[in-house]
Amino acid sequence: MSPSATMRALVCAEPGQLAIATRAIPQRGPDEVLVRVRRVGICGTDYHIFEGKHPFLAYPRVMGHELAAEVVEAPEGSPLVVGEAVIINPYLACGTCIACRKGSPNCCTRIAVLGVHTDGGMADYLVLPETNVISGNGLNLDQCAAVEFLAIGAHAVRRGGVGPGDRALVIGAGPIGLGAALFARLSGATVHLLDRDAERLASIGAIVGAAGTIRADEGMDAAVAAATDGEGFDVVFDATGVGKSMEKAFDHVAATGRLVLVSVVKDPITFSDPDFHRREMTLIASRNATAVDFERVAEALRSGAVPIDQIVTHRTSLQGAIADLPRWAREKSGLIKALVTLD
Ligand SMILES: [Zn+2]
Ligand SMILES: [Zn+2]
Repeated sequence: MSPSATMRALVCAEPGQLAIATRAIPQRGPDEVLVRVRRVGICGTDYHIFEGKHPFLAYPRVMGHELAAEVVEAPEGSPLVVGEAVIINPYLACGTCIACRKGSPNCCTRIAVLGVHTDGGMADYLVLPETNVISGNGLNLDQCAAVEFLAIGAHAVRRGGVGPGDRALVIGAGPIGLGAALFARLSGATVHLLDRDAERLASIGAIVGAAGTIRADEGMDAAVAAATDGEGFDVVFDATGVGKSMEKAFDHVAATGRLVLVSVVKDPITFSDPDFHRREMTLIASRNATAVDFERVAEALRSGAVPIDQIVTHRTSLQGAIADLPRWAREKSGLIKALVTLD
């Protein structure tokens, strides 16, 4: 790469403003990899950044953390091969804090998420630490770009200790709920989905092989009882990002069951301590994902257990995203995952 070479970057200068800027191609340090970005999944976080709803975000920002790329330059002796498709782990961890030392870089106290805290992948090129670049090994670019968001669900399933015979409930039929439901089923659980939106329940339910779906309405408690012989679910995941839903989720957990909160809200949530205590419930937070989860998802994609063609419902280009991203932030009908393709 000549130092003067430039690239395109889609910059969110301030909420509601997207434009293509010309930037210098970043220079690679000795332990870093230069990649050419090929696919960028658009996520709830990106819509929030665009709409100015993200709680702590500095603008201007180049979004994009769900990435598939090709290796351009790798460090001397790296197993990465120039031209190969790679998965990007967008969680840049310090490696020395207590969470990192305990093997949980997903909770690094100094974490920087690509495309959130630092500029991300809605650009032609990106430089990353070698440890954040994972060989795609037999996956196509669409599959590589799906690994990160599916890994959030796979991590939640691992946190929830899901195993054969578990009856699992996933609340929130969005992309994160999709991942949690899919990996809960692949871990041997029977899975029910709960959401307000009948269309999403039908489409996501089919993709994940749900045993049943439950509408979030007045009949919800009766439906949960009917699905579980009146016992409640062994493990419940909330992936809604809605405090009221997270509070209600406690009611759906069986005695001795687990509740995994995948999404996060700004405000406190409350629950009935007597109900929690009587059932000796376990309450679990699940944040981001780790290398183990990325590998689990890549393996599932390789085995054909993930119907990627049904998950990627919308596509655009870097230029097209200027008009499409704002529209998709509002119009979610039929939208599961949108991908930006860079040529
Ligand atoms: Zn995401
Ligand atoms: Zn750390």
